[in-house]
Amino acid sequence: MEEKSVILSIGGNIGDVPSSFNEALRLLDEAGFRVERASSAYRNPAVGCEDGAPDFFNWAVKGHWDGTPEALLAVTQSIEVALGRPKDHPHWHSRTLDIDIIFCNGEERSTPELTLPHPRWRERSFVLIPLREISDGEI
Ligand code: ADP
Ligand code: MG
Repeated sequence: MEEKSVILSIGGNIGDVPSSFNEALRLLDEAGFRVERASSAYRNPAVGCEDGAPDFFNWAVKGHWDGTPEALLAVTQSIEVALGRPKDHPHWHSRTLDIDIIFCNGEERSTPELTLPHPRWRERSFVLIPLREISDGEI
């Protein structure tokens, strides 16, 4: 993976998820994140969510961000809220759109607010499979 690039994993399972995804790309662009490539949409069962949860749509997005990872997290979290994520959202629950930062310009962090690279990306096929599609054999 290029040193100065960002990988996001974006997924959701509530409402019109492909249109939330398109809106998220527009809002990312508006905030100064330059989208270089987006994977196709992958449909996955909602493993670990509440009983009867609808399937997820998942994407990987590669792009460029000139600010800090913390500033990018503030942007992605405000987009999650703009697209309908409730404030007291529990972990592992259905969501309109979840945006996780997998890599950010080769930076490392290990706080509860931000862990980079994302701690579980290698174990999650819903992250890995879309990521392989856009990573030109680097992953
Ligand atoms: P998950 O994405 O594991 O299903 P949530 O989206 O509910 O869980 O959890 C979000 C929390 O994870 C946020 O409070 C955020 O501060 C924290 N977090 C830590 N590292 C990252 C990261 N690399 N990308 C996005 N959120 C992160
Ligand atoms: Mg998340």
